[in-house]
Order: sequence, then C-alpha cells, then structure tokens
Amino acid sequence: MAGDQGAARSPLIGVLSLQGDVREHLAALAAAGAAPTTVRRPDELAAVEGLVIPGGESTTMSKLAVLFGMLEPLRERVRAGMPVYGTCAGLILLAEKILDPRSGQETVGGIDMIVRRNAFGRQNESFEAAVEVAGVGPGPVDGVFIRAPWVESVGAGVEVLAEHGGHVVAVRQGNALATSFHPELTGDHRLHGFFTQMVRSAR
Ligand code: GLN
Repeated sequence: MAGDQGAARSPLIGVLSLQGDVREHLAALAAAGAAPTTVRRPDELAAVEGLVIPGGESTTMSKLAVLFGMLEPLRERVRAGMPVYGTCAGLILLAEKILDPRSGQETVGGIDMIVRRNAFGRQNESFEAAVEVAGVGPGPVDGVFIRAPWVESVGAGVEVLAEHGGHVVAVRQGNALATSFHPELTGDHRLHGFFTQMVRSAR
C-alpha cells in the first residue's frame, strides 16, 4: 500500500549548511538510515522532515542565518515541531539563552536551557571521553569535545540525557535534541540513529 511505503521511506533529514562540519553529518545520517540533504535556503528547509545543526562556530552560524534569511524560518519550523538535532555549536543555537553571547549572536531556540560557550576550554583543550547517553545504549558513546559548550541549567520540560564531569552535555526537549559533543566525528552512529527514529516518530 502506498501509505506503508511512505512510512518505510528513509526520512529526508537536512543538515544546515551555512558553516561547520556538514559533510560528516551527511555521512553519519546516511549510515543511520536517513536520506540526508544540505539546507541553505528557506525553500530547502521547507522540504525536509528533520534538521541537524552541525558543530562549527555559533556566532558565525547565527550571523549567516540572518544573512541568508534563515533565522525566522528556522525558529518557525522548530516551534511548529520539526525534529531538530544540534551538536556543539548547534546545541548553542538551540538554547533559549547563552550565558556569554558575542555581540549580535542570535539563537534559534527550542530548548529551555542556558548554555555556556567554550565551557570545557579552548581548542587546545579538546578531548575525548566515554559518555553514557540515556536511550542510546548499551554502552557509552565516544564523546569528542571541541571547544565544547555545556548546559548550565535547564527548565522543567528538559530531559537530561548525559552528563560529563558533573556538567550536562546532552538534552532533549520534545522535538529538539542536543549534544555538546560530536558523534558525527566517530564511527558510532547511534545518536544519528536515535534522531532518525525521532523523525520517523514525528510523521
Ligand atoms: N565554541 C564553538 C562556538 O561557540 C563551538 C565549537 C564546536 O562546535 N566545535 O560556537
């Protein structure tokens, strides 16, 4: 039946391609069974079932989002319930509030949390650690932290999925998922699989 075929179809998941590690997310999504595509313009955003906001530099990404006329369309789709997954800089973009924003730094919002940028130290303090993430087990994921933010505080509706060193590094609020670390840089695609499942469930 046509309907059944529709349900079986790989979800079309975009990767916001303004800046950051887009290619790695496209590959991880494909490995997790999604149909990935790049998203730069509002019409491309309108076509996808879910969106990944990659790691990179959150101030640059937010300025490019304004320049490309993407900030409001992103806010609207996230508010309307489109599944979205942000890694590192992407986590910062999903925060309702940044503790230490650069001037002119905007966010998309979607997760009721306050984040601290570069909380784990600067580039030369990047590191890897085993992180237990609720719902993606069994076993920890290899967390790659690069100038990573952490979540300073969360609102009542936010589920904490993982902590590292006493700090929150993975959260979910309804349709929005975010991690401080970069699963797209490892061979472990469980978080992309988890997100792909979120997109399927939202159909
Ligand atoms: N520190 C960066 C920022 O503020 C994020 C780093 C990353 O995405 N790897 O955007």
